[in-house]
Amino acid sequence: MQAEVVIVGGGVAGLAAKRWLHRQEVHEVLLLELEEQVGGNAASGHSEVSAYPWGAHYLPVPDTRNQDLLDFLREAGVITGYDAATGLPIYNEYHLCHDPEERLNIQGYWQSGLVPELGVPAADRQQIARFFALIEQLRQAKGHDGKDAFAIPVDHSSADDTFRQLDLLSFGDYLAREGFTSPYLCWYLDYCCKDDYGATTATTSAWAGLHYFAARKGSAHNATASDVLTWPEGNGFLVHHLRRASPENILPQTLAYALRETSDGVEVLAYDVRAQQSVQLKAKQVLLATPQFVTQRLLAGVAESKALACYHAPWVVANLTVDGLPQGPGRPLCWDNVVYGSKSVGYVNANHQDLAMTADERKVITLYWPLADEAPDLARRAAYQTSYDEWLQRIMAELETAHPGVTPHVAQADIWVWGHGMIAPTPGFLWHSERLAAAQPLRQKIFFAHTDLSGMSIFEEGFYQGIRAAREILASA
Ligand SMILES: Cc1cc2nc3c(=O)[nH]c(=O)nc-3n(C[C@H](O)[C@H](O)[C@H](O)COP(=O)(O)OP(=O)(O)OC[C@H]3O[C@@H](n4cnc5c(N)ncnc54)[C@H](O)[C@@H]3O)c2cc1C
Repeated sequence: MQAEVVIVGGGVAGLAAKRWLHRQEVHEVLLLELEEQVGGNAASGHSEVSAYPWGAHYLPVPDTRNQDLLDFLREAGVITGYDAATGLPIYNEYHLCHDPEERLNIQGYWQSGLVPELGVPAADRQQIARFFALIEQLRQAKGHDGKDAFAIPVDHSSADDTFRQLDLLSFGDYLAREGFTSPYLCWYLDYCCKDDYGATTATTSAWAGLHYFAARKGSAHNATASDVLTWPEGNGFLVHHLRRASPENILPQTLAYALRETSDGVEVLAYDVRAQQSVQLKAKQVLLATPQFVTQRLLAGVAESKALACYHAPWVVANLTVDGLPQGPGRPLCWDNVVYGSKSVGYVNANHQDLAMTADERKVITLYWPLADEAPDLARRAAYQTSYDEWLQRIMAELETAHPGVTPHVAQADIWVWGHGMIAPTPGFLWHSERLAAAQPLRQKIFFAHTDLSGMSIFEEGFYQGIRAAREILASA
C-alpha cells in the first residue's frame, strides 16, 4: 500500500494529526491502529445499560487562549457559540458536568467536595487554606519571559528557572519544605497525583504537582475554571468527533512492527490481524503517534537511539453495571465519588449526565485504580498475572468499603488492565532536554506525537502534540 503520510497509532494524538492534515487538504493519509477501535486510552465501551469510558473521562473547561482546542470543541458541538458582549465561549449545558459533582466519604459520611473537611482540625484547615492561596498566586504568576509559569500545553509554560527548578524535586519533598504537613492535605494531594498522573507525591515532580492546580485557567460565559466537560462514554465522545473529521483510511487491528528508511521515504511493516498477514506500506513521511516503549522498538532499524526513559503508570479500570447502590449518610451520589484513605481513586457515575426522569436505578459506575504502590514494571507484571476473578474480588472489597452490601447489586463487571496507562511526570523529566529532543523529526521523514512527549497525559496535550507534528509535516513539504 502507498500513502503520502502513514500515522501509526489512533489515540488522541494520532487522530488530532489526521484531522489537521485533512483540514490542510492532505488526504492521502493512512492511520494504523492495533486495537479494534481507535481512541487509545480515551476509548470507550458499553453495557446494556450505558456507554462508559475505558480510560479518560473528562476535559476541564479550557483556557480561551487555546484556540485550536476551542475550534475543535465548536466543531463537536461542545461549544454552542460565543457571547456577543464578552466573546467568551458558551458551553453546551448537556456536556458541562451537572451538579452534584463531587463527594468524599470520610469517617463513614459522604461530605461535599473532595478536599477533606469533616472532622478536620483547625490547624489542618489553615494549612489547606494556605496551600490554595499559594495556588492562586501561582495561577497568576508569570516568568521573566512574560509567559505563564504554568500553562497547558506544558510547552507554553515559562522557561523561568524560578519555576522550572521545581521540577527537580519531588512534590512530597516540596510540601515538606514549605511546611505542608497536614495528613489531610497530604492525603488529598497524593490522591490528586494518583488521579491525574497515576503516581504519588513522592514520585511526581513538584512542578507537575503544582501544575495540576495552577494551570487550570479556563473561562467561559456559562462555566468557570473548575468546571469540567464529561459524557457517559468519557473522552470517547471527543475521540468520536476527532475521527469523524477524517474517517477514511483508518486501518484497525493493524500492528506496525518495523520501519525501514528508503531513498525517497519510509516503509512501514505491519501485521493485519484480521487477514493474518504482514503488509508493507510505503510513505513519504511517517508519524509515530505511539507511546515511547513502542516508538523505541519501531525506530530500532532506522535511527540512532532516541530513548526517553519514561515512567508509565499501570492502571486498572472496572466498569460495573449495577441495579442500585446502597447509600450511606450524607451527600447523594455524585459524578465523582472518592473514599478517604482508599487505594483506588474512587468511581465516576457514567449515567450522571442522564436527564431521564425515570425510577430506573440501573447505572454503570467506572472505578479507577492506579497501581502506584510499587515500581511500575513490578506493578505491571503483577497486574498481568492477576486473573479476572482476583481483580473482581479486590474491586468488590474496595467498593464494599464505600457501599456496604453492594455486591449482589453488581450485574456485570468489565475490567481492563492498562499496563502502560499513562506517563507520570517524575522529578527531572519535564524540563530535561531529552524530552524535547525526542519530539524532533528525523530527517524530515519520521515525526513524533504522543502525550509521552509532553510528560503529562491529558487530552489537551495529546491534541496539541498531534497538531504540532502535523504542522511540522506540512512545513517540511
Ligand atoms: C485510566 C486512565 C484515565 C485517564 N483519564 C483521563 C481523563 O479523565 N482526562 C484526560 O484528559 N486524560 C485522561 N487520561 C490520559 C489519556 O491517556 C490521554 O488523555 C490521551 O488519551 C492519550 O492519547 P495519546 O494519543 O497520547 O496516547 P494513546 O492513548 O496511548 O494512543 C496511542 C495509540 O497507539 C496505538 N498503538 C500502539 N502501538 C501501536 C502499533 N505498534 N501499531 C499500531 N497502533 C499502535 C494504541 O493502541 C493507541 O490507540 C487517562 C488515562 C488512563 C490510562
